[in-house]
Amino acid sequence: MHKPTTQDTTPNGAVFLDRDGTIIREVGYLSRLDEIELLPGAAEAILKLNCQRIPVILITNQSGVARGKITEEFVKQSHLLLNRLLARENAHIDDFFYCPHHPEVGNAQYRKICTCRKPAPGLLLQAAGKHSLDLERSFVIGDKLIDVKMAQEVNARGILVKTGYGNDELKLTETSGVSPDQVCSDISEAVDWILKIREDNF
Ligand SMILES: [Mg+2]
Ligand SMILES: [Zn+2]
Repeated sequence: MHKPTTQDTTPNGAVFLDRDGTIIREVGYLSRLDEIELLPGAAEAILKLNCQRIPVILITNQSGVARGKITEEFVKQSHLLLNRLLARENAHIDDFFYCPHHPEVGNAQYRKICTCRKPAPGLLLQAAGKHSLDLERSFVIGDKLIDVKMAQEVNARGILVKTGYGNDELKLTETSGVSPDQVCSDISEAVDWILKIREDNF
């Protein structure tokens, strides 16, 4: 069983999670709340992190906002629902950060070259500032190489999972020059790897 520890010896690292294809099913541009479906084992994996008092922070590109497919309000609602679904299994995500922009398409308000669209590490830096996190002791779990690249931009470790677009992205590692610190079948395996690494190091 995973019990919260009483003494706070946990280092200030966090686990950053991609959303689509990593903790919920990849459906293209998610635009309805009833499309949100947790992947098997995701809640349990997040609960393990919660019990170790490791901050769990979601970081997602939502260019559907720039493209006019969804609103920022919808993104916020989807994250509230996500935490309600996780709460059924006693798990929770501590904070949510999203990039609504796109560099080339969409509404003028959101069409820009920003510093928060993955693989740029802007949202990691924002989260680190807000929650006093040590990014070099942090991990990013995602199904795309942009998730891995974002991690490596700030010397965090990037784990590629094979759910969502993961299997296709894996084929691109050689040509892209981005090499995941670890490749895992899914978020459960990724979290177990992280907990093992931490045990070995601390
Ligand atoms: Mg994804
Ligand atoms: Zn952005």
